[in-house]
Amino acid sequence: MKSGYEKERELLFSVITALYKEALVNGASGNQSIRVSENEIIITPSGGTYFNLSLEDLVLCDLSGNVLSNNGPYSSEYKLHQKIYKAFPNINGVIHTHSPYIIGVSSVLKELPLLSVESFVSGFTPVPVTENFLMPGSQLLAEESVRLLKETGSKAVILKNHGLVALGNCLTEAFNLASNLEVGAKAYFVAKNLGNPSLITKETVKK
Ligand SMILES: [Zn+2]
Repeated sequence: MKSGYEKERELLFSVITALYKEALVNGASGNQSIRVSENEIIITPSGGTYFNLSLEDLVLCDLSGNVLSNNGPYSSEYKLHQKIYKAFPNINGVIHTHSPYIIGVSSVLKELPLLSVESFVSGFTPVPVTENFLMPGSQLLAEESVRLLKETGSKAVILKNHGLVALGNCLTEAFNLASNLEVGAKAYFVAKNLGNPSLITKETVKK
């Protein structure tokens, strides 16, 4: 097995543990990765169940699809991560969750309006939702996600009836975005039940 990248592997494992603790992922759902060099990433394994996942289960691979560590196979959503890293050279962390409020919102709305501080993080860009339910692990899901990310300039995209994909210049940034957007989706749900949510936009910010 190729050596090195211990720090990145540990960071990825810490982030996965935090996602599980925050109930943003459950069972074996979702997948996460960190870029460790221009053409290499470490990603969660296929079918890895969170409660007994270990550091050694994380898979080092390149962006051509080759596994470089002597474990694997890698996550069935590898293509999504691969296409994002290829399309966005400055992105170094990708998080995919099946967080419940995001999934709920995605079945009703075409985008997630932002009503809290996550508005600042995401540059006041509502998070787009894919038009259709796309088969998990498919080429189409990966391509459509990248298309929406490019088109809207958002650092996150919501997969209809499925979950969230959050990007970061570093993995910690991607984690914070995934966590904040779940709070945002929950807050939106509460606000919508109480009345007409007031949103934060560039225009409504008073300095
Ligand atoms: Zn998924």
